[in-house]
Amino acid sequence: MPQDNDHGQTIAPIQGSRIDAYVDRYAARATGMVASEVRALFSVASRPEVVSLAGGMPYVTALPLDVVGELVADLVARRGPVALQYGSGQGDPHLREQICDVMRMEGIEANSDDVVVTVGSQQALDLITRIFIDPGDVVLAEGPSYVGALGTFSAYQARVIHVAMDSEGIVPESLAQTIYALRSAGNRIKFLYTIPTFQNPAGVTLSAARRQQVLEICQRADVLIVEDNPYGMLGFDGEPMRTLRADNADGVVYLGSFSKTLAPGFRVGWALAPHAIREKLVLAMESAVLSHSSFTQLAVGQYLATQPWREQIKAFRELYRERRDTMLSSLEALMPDGVTWTRPGGGFFVWATLPEGLDSKALLPRAVAERVAFVPGTGFFADGGGARHMRLSYCYPEPDRIREGVRRLAGVIGQELRV
Ligand code: PMP
Repeated sequence: MPQDNDHGQTIAPIQGSRIDAYVDRYAARATGMVASEVRALFSVASRPEVVSLAGGMPYVTALPLDVVGELVADLVARRGPVALQYGSGQGDPHLREQICDVMRMEGIEANSDDVVVTVGSQQALDLITRIFIDPGDVVLAEGPSYVGALGTFSAYQARVIHVAMDSEGIVPESLAQTIYALRSAGNRIKFLYTIPTFQNPAGVTLSAARRQQVLEICQRADVLIVEDNPYGMLGFDGEPMRTLRADNADGVVYLGSFSKTLAPGFRVGWALAPHAIREKLVLAMESAVLSHSSFTQLAVGQYLATQPWREQIKAFRELYRERRDTMLSSLEALMPDGVTWTRPGGGFFVWATLPEGLDSKALLPRAVAERVAFVPGTGFFADGGGARHMRLSYCYPEPDRIREGVRRLAGVIGQELRV
């Protein structure tokens, strides 16, 4: 059966026999590379009659595509021989300067020499994990956490231990206790992976007060922080949140991406890391892909240099704010009593909690039959938790489809509560 990734796109089915003839030959780490059991159902979600609240795809249709086309043609005409050539393993130097300008908006003062351009922030996650994790090493992560990061950690045989979070983000006391308990039992904690702003999947943001506490706890315990911030610029109210990296240059690896502020198809993200880690990242990058695509790096660089990108981010924010508002008001109007949800101040996702006794994974086939899809909460936990939760995305469907999707989902949950 075809499968879908986290963003709702179909992965081609394996032709022929479903029995894997190579099963006894894979490396041990390949056993950690498993498709989630609910992925198969998502292929149904791409049918036009199904409202998908499942995928996390940015609404790239809102971009001025003609401008992007002209920019790419101009790039080939003016800088073709550079754009079509191999580049540096660390990334284009001019783009790295531009990335520093982008990060300045979130309080980060950085030297472009400490930036590594990666194939989306997903590759940065892979490289970080590759250079730090031996099988069995512990990674701390919010519970719930980003499914793509959990997949990478699992592929490198890390042991993910979740830290509690609530509507203000990660709970500092839980973080301190978890570190203490793990260390007392002789575990090696390699880093804390956190998405402090407009978290995927929970939609919550770490409060300013807690940011300082998290930094202090990790500094005191000597735990490296990996701060993943692809949604930071997509806040609906006020200025971007100050990042963790802004207040600690030595103990934080910061991951950024143009996937949500421009377009994921360019596959341009980055890591900003303390100098020694940056050197390892470049070596790991070179061994993985020699160098990132010069073509897309220069295209993004040209976009930043010639287009009103801050205005475009503002337009994205307005678009996503309207969709967030539609989702929240629809949930308010239509969901049965006992269902609760988060109220994101930015980003793409709402995290809903079902009444005691309901299981979101069991609900999914019934929801799909009623032509609405979501992601069950269990995909966002490494330890099988999350059964009463679901992630609802408002980034891609138009507002009237969001309303209709919530109406269908509320109907399915209502029915379930009545039986
Ligand atoms: N981190 C988080 C939290 C994400 O939500 C995503 C995309 N869904 C990524 C990283 C990876 O994004 P990209 O590789 O496109 O930059």
